[in-house]
Amino acid sequence: MRYLSTRGEAAPRDFEGVLLAGLAEDGGLFLPEAWPHLSPAEWRALRGLPYAELAARLMQPFLGDALAPATLRGLTEAAYAGFGSPAVAPLVQLDHRSFVLELFHGPTLAFKDMAMQLLGRLFDQVLARRGERITIVGATSGDTGSAAIEACRDRAAIDIVILHPEGRTSEVQRRQMTTVLSDNVANLAVRGSFDDCQDLVKAMFNDAPFRQEMRLAAVNSINWARVAAQIPYYAYAALALGAPDRAVAFSVPTGNFGNVLAAWAVREMGLPVERLIVGSNRNDILARFLAANDMSVQGVEPSLSPSMDIQVSSNFERLLFELLGRDGTATAETMRRFRAEGRMPVPDAAWRRAAALFHGFALDDAGTLAEIRHLWESAGYLADPHTAIGTAAARAHAPADPAIPVVIAATAHPAKFPDAVARATGRRPPLPPRLADLPAREERYSVLPAELAAVEDFVRAHTRRNRRG
Ligand SMILES: *Cc1c(COP(=O)(O)O)cnc(C)c1O
Repeated sequence: MRYLSTRGEAAPRDFEGVLLAGLAEDGGLFLPEAWPHLSPAEWRALRGLPYAELAARLMQPFLGDALAPATLRGLTEAAYAGFGSPAVAPLVQLDHRSFVLELFHGPTLAFKDMAMQLLGRLFDQVLARRGERITIVGATSGDTGSAAIEACRDRAAIDIVILHPEGRTSEVQRRQMTTVLSDNVANLAVRGSFDDCQDLVKAMFNDAPFRQEMRLAAVNSINWARVAAQIPYYAYAALALGAPDRAVAFSVPTGNFGNVLAAWAVREMGLPVERLIVGSNRNDILARFLAANDMSVQGVEPSLSPSMDIQVSSNFERLLFELLGRDGTATAETMRRFRAEGRMPVPDAAWRRAAALFHGFALDDAGTLAEIRHLWESAGYLADPHTAIGTAAARAHAPADPAIPVVIAATAHPAKFPDAVARATGRRPPLPPRLADLPAREERYSVLPAELAAVEDFVRAHTRRNRRG
């Protein structure tokens, strides 16, 4: 399989090239040249497979000959073996037609583990074959850093250094990172804000000699492999509910648009997806776009669902490219004007195509707490704030045909946001047993001022390549 850039200038690449590059050289995002398509009979033949096997079968076409099927199968088995549910991504029924798809049974209790656990192993496999090593550096305000650390710990070809703002993450979030004592993992608390951390990471990438010396790499949400690894769970849920012989709808609490893009992809691959419901908090740029073709940037406001506090959904560019008939030049020009003017000029016909399938919904913090309470009282279900936005969105935009079930992506475990859940329900969700000793585990991290030279020295000193001489 070959991949094209959404901005039409970069040369096509294979899966391995796309995995290692992340962003295309022209600033665009990679997409498959053509979507793999399965017939109804081929979909039916996948029913009932264990999650790891389904994931390997559905991802194989995206990898092409990058990995042999048996190797990929080994990686998916290993990636999902440590999950807290034998179903990996269990479906929980809320009412006659609503089902929660729990994506939070991985090591860090958020859906990012579903992709990252596989991504770390894919990187390691490909690098080992090439005889290369990389250093992953990243900044986190909480969740992404722990998912990346858990994905990269103990991988032979990867070192990882994560910067977090000292004292500004929650205790659980910090401990999920700093109690990983593997010798390829280093945590740095920066005396500053999350923005300072991000600026330091950007500055390291812009320091060409340093970038080259350390072979810096990122595992951010624009990497195609992350989207690809999110496709299988939508198919898993749809097949369990009767697809391809019954249509389904998905409701996805959304930030960077990566997760809902994967739901869109299973439709391109031939499953009957009747609609895609996109949930936002008060940062409602996507809801405004879908309601009135108004994709205009406003300031980011903090909310109870911090993983959705975004201004610009980076993965939206992939949908835009498709809406514009895969015209890279038009996509590049639209993105250029968006950056310059703060408003994305989407042609009316393209917007209508989007609005026919995607339904936007936004909920403020008070509404989110009310929904958490409603779920607890009506169904005995404890939901985190992100998931609650998904369930409220699903009710607001349920398909007219009651025979179509709605699957809500549950993106975080309620114990990850215990304060909001306790405020809404009076119950404080406990950490699952495998994490119950987190507060007592040994922590290891360093503290430094927000100064580039000091941080670069720290990264140099903490890669195994350098420690071994
Ligand atoms: C990252 C995240 C999201 C948003 O996912 P996108 O792929 O960026 O849309 C939603 N909920 C939780 C809990 C997350 O960690």
